[in-house]
Amino acid sequence: MNYISTRGAAPVLSFGEAMITGLARDGGLYVPETVPVMLKADIAALAGLSYEEIAFRVMRPFLGDTFEDDEFRRLIAKAYGSFGHGARAPLVQLAPNHFLLELFHGPTLAFKDFAMQLIGQMMQAALAKTGERITIVGATSGDTGSAAIEAFRGLSNVDLFILFPHGRVSEVQRRQMTTPSQANVHALAVEGDFDDCQARVKDMFNNFPFRDVVRLAGVNSINWARVLAQVVYYFSSAVSLGAPERTVSFTVPTGNFGDIFAGYIARKMGLPIEKLVIATNQNDILDRAIRSGIYKTDGVKRSISPSMDIQVSSNFERVLFDAYERDGNAVAQLMKELNAGGFTIKREALEILRGIFISGSCSEVETLATIRHVFAVTGHILCPHSAVGVKVAEEHLGGVPMITLATAHPAKFPDAVEKAIGVRSELPSRMGDLFDRPERVTWVKNDSAALQAVVRERIGC
Ligand SMILES: *Cc1c(COP(=O)(O)O)cnc(C)c1O
Repeated sequence: MNYISTRGAAPVLSFGEAMITGLARDGGLYVPETVPVMLKADIAALAGLSYEEIAFRVMRPFLGDTFEDDEFRRLIAKAYGSFGHGARAPLVQLAPNHFLLELFHGPTLAFKDFAMQLIGQMMQAALAKTGERITIVGATSGDTGSAAIEAFRGLSNVDLFILFPHGRVSEVQRRQMTTPSQANVHALAVEGDFDDCQARVKDMFNNFPFRDVVRLAGVNSINWARVLAQVVYYFSSAVSLGAPERTVSFTVPTGNFGDIFAGYIARKMGLPIEKLVIATNQNDILDRAIRSGIYKTDGVKRSISPSMDIQVSSNFERVLFDAYERDGNAVAQLMKELNAGGFTIKREALEILRGIFISGSCSEVETLATIRHVFAVTGHILCPHSAVGVKVAEEHLGGVPMITLATAHPAKFPDAVEKAIGVRSELPSRMGDLFDRPERVTWVKNDSAALQAVVRERIGC
């Protein structure tokens, strides 16, 4: 299985190479050259299997010869063994024909654990074969950093540095990043905001001497291996509700378009998905794009669903690549226009997108109201991101079953929950001592030279 860039001008890579490389050298994103289709009988055969076995069968065709089958099964078992629920991604019912897919039973209580836990295992195994050691650097507004630290802590071939904006993550998020004690993880509190952190990471990748000497790698949400790991729960949940005989729809709270793009891949693989509903908070660039055909940036507004406060949805490039019939030059041109503020999606491409995706957005007031009414009617407490999904999903019920993705545990965002229903959501008991563990964090100026010096000093080169 080969991987090609959405901008058509980077080397063709294997799965293992694309996983380590992350961003393609032409600035594009790696996608599989062809998407393997699962036969209806093979989808039907997933019914009743463990999450781990479904994961193996869904992902295996994408891997080429990167791992032997037995080895890949072992990596999957390790990745999901630490989850706090035997089903890994359980479904609960909210209303007639409306189901919630709980993706927050991993070690850091957000869906990013599904991809990060597996990519940690896969990277370690791939590096062990070559004896290589790498340095992973990432910026986070909260959930990605804690998921990465939890996945990579203690691995012997990886040093991990996470830059987070000092004072701008929730206390639970901060403690999840600062309390792991393993020497290979380094939480760096940067005196700046999330955009500063992201810019400093970009500076590191653009400083080629630094990049080469520390052997820099990335695990941000454009990494293809992360997308692939997220395809699995679309299959497991749809099959639980009767696929492939029964068609379903999904609603996905969206920021960087990674999670919903995984649903798009599941649909391409043959899973009968009628519609994929894009749910955004007040940062509604994707909703506006699907409705108007104009993709135009418009400044980030801080919201109570902060993991979706994103101005440019990186993974949208992958779906544009398909909608433009895989014309890398056309995509490169659109991205150039985006740097100047925005672009218009051509009519044929917009029609393709509208045949698959519908969209909606949710205001701050509506987010709180949704947490409130779902609690009143069902007793379930939603995190604010999941509430955005539920609100938009409720506008599209009727017809086939709707599955809304619950992307984080409510206890990760206790202030928003308290504001909505007057009670704070409790952390699961396995995390109960989070507030007693000692913190370890390095404060760094918002300065590339200072940050790069910290990285080099820590890894001793
Ligand atoms: C990252 C995140 C999202 C957005 O996911 P994308 O893949 O970026 O669209 C939604 N909810 C939570 C809780 C997240 O951490």
